[in-house]
Amino acid sequence: MPHHSPHKTVALSSLVNHEPVTIAPDTPLAEVLAIMEHRKIGCLLTVDEQHRPAGIFTEQDAVRLLVGTLGEQRQPQTMADVMQRPVFALAATVDCRDGFREMISRRFRYLAVVDALGKLVGVVSEGDFMRYLGFERMFELKTVASAMTLNPLALDGTETLDRAARLMADKRIGCVLVTQGGAPVGLVSERDMVRFSRMGPAQLQRPLAEVMSGPLQTVRPDMPLQEAAHHMEAFHIRRLGVVEEGRLVGILTRHDVVKAQQGRYIEYLHETIQRHHHEVQKAHAEMGLLSQKLKAYKLMEHVSDAILVAQADTGQVVEANASACRLLGYEHTALLRVRLDRLLRPNRPDKGWASLGDSLPPHGRGTFHLDLLTSDGRSVPCQVDIRQVSEDGSDHIVLVARDMSDLMAQSDQIRLQIQALNALDHAVVITDITTSVVWANAAFTRLTGYELAEAVGRKPAELVKSGKQDKAFYERIWSTILAGNVWRGELINRRKDGQLYDEEMAITPIYAGADGVITNFIAVKQDITERKAQEAKLRQLSITDPLTGVENRRGFMVQLERLHARQRRHGHPLSVLMFDLDWFKRINDQHGHAVGDEVLKRVTQLVGQRLRRSDHLGRLGGEEFAVLLPDTHLDGAHATALELCQSVAMEPVMTAGGPIPVTVSVGVAEVGSTDANPEDALVRADLALYRAKAQGRNRVVMAEPELTAERLTP
Ligand code: GH3
Ligand code: MG
Ligand code: MG
Repeated sequence: MPHHSPHKTVALSSLVNHEPVTIAPDTPLAEVLAIMEHRKIGCLLTVDEQHRPAGIFTEQDAVRLLVGTLGEQRQPQTMADVMQRPVFALAATVDCRDGFREMISRRFRYLAVVDALGKLVGVVSEGDFMRYLGFERMFELKTVASAMTLNPLALDGTETLDRAARLMADKRIGCVLVTQGGAPVGLVSERDMVRFSRMGPAQLQRPLAEVMSGPLQTVRPDMPLQEAAHHMEAFHIRRLGVVEEGRLVGILTRHDVVKAQQGRYIEYLHETIQRHHHEVQKAHAEMGLLSQKLKAYKLMEHVSDAILVAQADTGQVVEANASACRLLGYEHTALLRVRLDRLLRPNRPDKGWASLGDSLPPHGRGTFHLDLLTSDGRSVPCQVDIRQVSEDGSDHIVLVARDMSDLMAQSDQIRLQIQALNALDHAVVITDITTSVVWANAAFTRLTGYELAEAVGRKPAELVKSGKQDKAFYERIWSTILAGNVWRGELINRRKDGQLYDEEMAITPIYAGADGVITNFIAVKQDITERKAQEAKLRQLSITDPLTGVENRRGFMVQLERLHARQRRHGHPLSVLMFDLDWFKRINDQHGHAVGDEVLKRVTQLVGQRLRRSDHLGRLGGEEFAVLLPDTHLDGAHATALELCQSVAMEPVMTAGGPIPVTVSVGVAEVGSTDANPEDALVRADLALYRAKAQGRNRVVMAEPELTAERLTP
């Protein structure tokens, strides 16, 4: 009896143990039936030229042939007339259990088996399956009663063969029992029908008692099924009557036995599938885990962080990536021999690894700043992420360390740079793109009065805007810096305490990368209030005559240009006087240079007092002066000149050495509307002054336009 392992696939081919009997399609029907009867075979096949099954004729077909329900053929003559086609066939490689299920579901008694090319290999019957599937393990507790067919078809011996054949064909059953007074005496089977078919339809009218095979072998319903099956095998019989107390209670056919196995088989198949499924799932899970581990491992190898895996209880390192080896200066195998406390310099060196472990919540994680120790004893400052993980019931520590040496060096550098910025006299303000302050140095606080904390997040425009610059000014700044250029300029801002100050500022736009996006602005500011004051003072000095305090020549010329432009713009008149002290050399000569200076100062004062606020007095050099008279025509200017001339002459200068009489000569000219250059009028006034001197001094002379023209056009 072939043994089979329930987990092994057994191909149908292994159940085929004899050459299939094939016949030609033109084999006469009588011969077909005779072969089946004599060779005790349940089916015959025909094959085509390629030896592929082409038709099949079974015992079942013989019954239908007998009762005339086989196809349309009225008078079948040959195998070709009666065979069923196409032939259902399964590949020899198909699992025998699948084959069996197919056969049962299609209610076939025989299964054609073919090779890969479709060639007939053999025929497998229910009996083959029964032998293959085995008895021992299958029926331990089963009895005949559990497998038998109840209420088998039974006919009294006086009934005709025709009746039995029709029943068998209708119900598709393999046999009809024959009884006598209720007790089984024999049976008529499909196999018998083959014989009767061969003998001809006349047989159909014979009573069953005459034609039946007998006696019917019987068993008791409580007989173990296994024993009954053995019995059938041993005697080559397909059916056993089941009799209890002399009465037929059922029939046990080979089909019943196989069916009983089938239930068992299905159960077993289900189990196998389940187990297989489970195994596949497990394998998948293992594969998944493995690939996950592989992935994680690959990932581990590629990250720049050092990764160490250690046993939680002992701290023994069990895995380390390349970065860890590099960072700590160990060979991989050497690193797997050390314990974590050899690698850590925790906050509490006395407690080693345990102190870190203790500070972690169970199965939690934490981030620490601590030094890792290299194989040669160096300390590497690291940020260490430690987490506890449980896998396969064991606790591990996963430690991810990031070398902070560079970062710390960098942060030292940054700290120094911040200190340098704070040491600067210049205020430095870093803003974001919206000009909100991000950071500012100490000088910024000194300059504006705002502390860094007050300034951060606010815009300088809100903090220090004075209103001294117009909108256009700020728009120019914006357009400059947004175009990527540095803006430099001066402006007046207001301190937190309200005080105005002059500021010189450079704003530099800062780009994030090469992509041209401005992210920040850096403004460098300097308080220039004092410098501005100094400059104003110097500017004042540069245009002022130190002796008399009135404008010097440069200052006077600036005013002349300015007033000329203004008067011309408004169509207003402008006149100019030039005067020179008479015989001044003599004063110097008689009283000394210092007294001369005194006289110059006094005359300047005197003239100044006689002038309007809008008039401008300047010392053009030596003892020569000029006066600008806005909104004044030549006549008016002449009148003013006379008044000046007379008042100087009437008031001798009082000095330590006594009063000194002084007179001046004056030239008057009006700046013409056609004068391209206002100095032309000054020249005319100077010529008039020259004439005044020539005419005897202490007098006023008006310029003659024609004379000027002559002089100017040689
Ligand atoms: P005139 O009537 O023709 O003007 O005769 P003048 O003596 O005034 O002659 P002139 O204008 O040519 O001489 C100017 C003199 O003024 C020459 C110079 O020594 C003197 N002087 C020029 N600047 C100063 C000054 O700052 N202080 C003193 N004390 N004398 C000056
Ligand atoms: Mg003079
Ligand atoms: Mg002079």
